[in-house]
Amino acid sequence: MKKNKAKLIIFTGPSGVGKGTMLADFFKRVDNKIVYSVSSTTRAPRDGEINGMHYFFISKEEFEQMINDNQFLEYACYSGNYYGTNKKFVDEKIAQGKSVLLEIELQGALQVMENCPDAVTIFIKPPTFEELENRLRGRHTETEEAIQKRLAAAHEELNNANKFHYIIENDKVEVAVDKLLEIYNKETK
Ligand code: 5GP
Repeated sequence: MKKNKAKLIIFTGPSGVGKGTMLADFFKRVDNKIVYSVSSTTRAPRDGEINGMHYFFISKEEFEQMINDNQFLEYACYSGNYYGTNKKFVDEKIAQGKSVLLEIELQGALQVMENCPDAVTIFIKPPTFEELENRLRGRHTETEEAIQKRLAAAHEELNNANKFHYIIENDKVEVAVDKLLEIYNKETK
């Protein structure tokens, strides 16, 4: 039997593209050789978000202390808040032979690409920009100001999609997740 290859998998795409929905389906369908990296953030929790499951919700001071202590594999300031990947968690899981999926935005993805050249990089794009805007507005989780910031970031992210190994268009979620599973199996088995 071929050995499983533990990989760092970067999963990036503009806000509103449906990353969360895709990952909920992906983790239902995938084997137990991959784990989700729970990030730390200074953003306030949305309704229903659980500390330690969706994010570790921490203060700006705590986040800056973690930066000083070199605890992040990568971090970025996105739409006015910090987001970062906990290095210790990732190192431990890879050492245990598990792949780790990082759901992170573009600046962080570019940092990991530079520092971890073996990482598998996947970009999720919407069918159209208009559709992205509709989805972002439709979920009613952000203020208009935050939506504008996220749409500005989305332009920048879409302009960098060609830096990723794979681009998946998320039109129908099941189809997009089929492609994600195909990539995962190809890269880790
Ligand atoms: P949201 O506020 O919608 O949960 O996330 C905003 C953006 O931050 C998303 O694009 C998400 O992928 C990204 N993000 C979440 N965690 C991290 C992280 O640890 N590092 C970086 N660089 N981006 C993250």
